[in-house]
Parts: sequence; C-alpha cells; structure tokens
Amino acid sequence: MQDFTYHTHNNNFNFFDGHNSAEEMISRAEEMGFKTIGVSNHLIWHPNVDTSHEPMFLADIDKAIDIHKRSIDLIREVGSRHKINVLVGAEADFFQSAEWRRGFERLQKALDFDYLIGTNHFVMNKDESFICNLYHLKYLPADFDRDFLAECIRGHWRNVVESINSGYYDFMAHLDYCVIKIPDKPEYDEYRWQIIEALDKRKQPFEVNTSGYNRINEQHPNTWMLKELCKRRVPTLISDDAHHVEQIGQHFERAENLLKELDCQVRFSLE
Ligand SMILES: [Zn+2]
Ligand SMILES: [Zn+2]
Repeated sequence: MQDFTYHTHNNNFNFFDGHNSAEEMISRAEEMGFKTIGVSNHLIWHPNVDTSHEPMFLADIDKAIDIHKRSIDLIREVGSRHKINVLVGAEADFFQSAEWRRGFERLQKALDFDYLIGTNHFVMNKDESFICNLYHLKYLPADFDRDFLAECIRGHWRNVVESINSGYYDFMAHLDYCVIKIPDKPEYDEYRWQIIEALDKRKQPFEVNTSGYNRINEQHPNTWMLKELCKRRVPTLISDDAHHVEQIGQHFERAENLLKELDCQVRFSLE
C-alpha cells in the first residue's frame, strides 16, 4: 500500500479551504504510519479571476507571494517538530496566456515549493478575459450565453492538455475533475484522448484521485483512461486530495486494487 500522500489541504490562516490545521493533518498522517505527507494548498492566481465569491482566489500577485510565503514557513515549522517527512507543495491552477505564464514563473521563483501539482478548476474563453471556477458556474445568470459557455468548457479541456504540455508540474491532479460539475458528453472523449497522448509523450506523472469515489463513485481519471495510461506505462500515484483529517489515505485500498487489476507497472514518487 502506498505510504505517502502528496495532495492534502489545510486551513492555514483561515485562508485555504481545508477543514483542519497543518498541525492536525501532519499529526494524523504520522499517527497513520505514513512515511511522507505533502501539503499542497491551492495556488490560484490570475489577473482576471473573480475574487468576490472566494477570497482564496488571488488577482494580486504580491498578495499571492505573501500568503504562500507565510504558509510555507508555517508548514516547515510544523514539519520540523514531527518525525514524518513533510514536503511543501502547491496545487497550482494552470492558464495558457503569456501574462499568466510570466506571473506564474515569478511565483515559482519567489516561493520555495518542493513540488507543484498541475490542476485545472476553471472554464475560460480564449483570451482569458472570462474565467470561471467550476464551483461558481452556478452564479452565472440564467440567460448566460450557452454557446459561449460551451466554448469555455471546451477551453477547460484544452487547458488540461496544455497544462500537461507546459512542463511546469511534478504531477497532474484529477484530470477529468470537471465532470463533477459539468455533465460528461461523448464529444469530450476527444479531449480525454488528447490528455492521454500528452501524458504519454512526456511520460508526465498523474494522480489517481480518490476524492472522486465520494462524489461520483469513480476515481479521476475514469477507468478507461487509467487503463490506457497504465498500458502506456505513464507513471502514477494515488492521491486522497484530503481536505479533512478523516480523508487522509481515504480509498487508497480501492485505488491500489484497481491499479493492480489494470496491471499498473510504473508508480511515481517524489523521493
Ligand atoms: Zn483540485
Ligand atoms: Zn486538491
């Protein structure tokens, strides 16, 4: 059984969206006998992000640097008081524009993360003048332009592919996460194949995210994608995406069994 988790969240400074403190999360993983816990709070910065529904979304890059610097320091301090190995990462949303890339590269330099998880929680139009979090689609007005939104959803899928191609990340989070908020359609299979091809080409590690078992009774990515990725020997790891101490290591056994069934041969670890 995998004895580490690299995808966990906490509520440092009452700013991030976990339910427990870094101290509580790290202590619980240690009690459970994990060798390593990676702490990966959300790093969501974009100049056009709507910050009104979610203070964790940052349009101001200096504020992003400040809060993450303080969070990294806090986690390292807590980690120094524990036996378990503690890594500090971030689950960092990707965007394609040159403006975002410039900012992100500045963030990368300013912040001393041990690793980065590539992630996509937004739909967007081509020039990123409109970006909307999957959880905030419900705030769009009832008469919102459906065709525009459909194009932004395709923009989301293309963004997942480009986040893999970016080379910014140590591993990719929940590749088909959007299906929890956007009904799946056969037309999206084309993007699922593009994701597989992009991962295969770079042998880019990706996670099997077990939080899907709670929401849609299936892991991310879905089973046929996972089967294809195992066949192509793309490295994988299991992530709980724990936002609560109770979720650490949740459904790892189920995911391990599935990986065995799919004859997964190549596992990823940071250490
Ligand atoms: Zn996520
Ligand atoms: Zn997460």
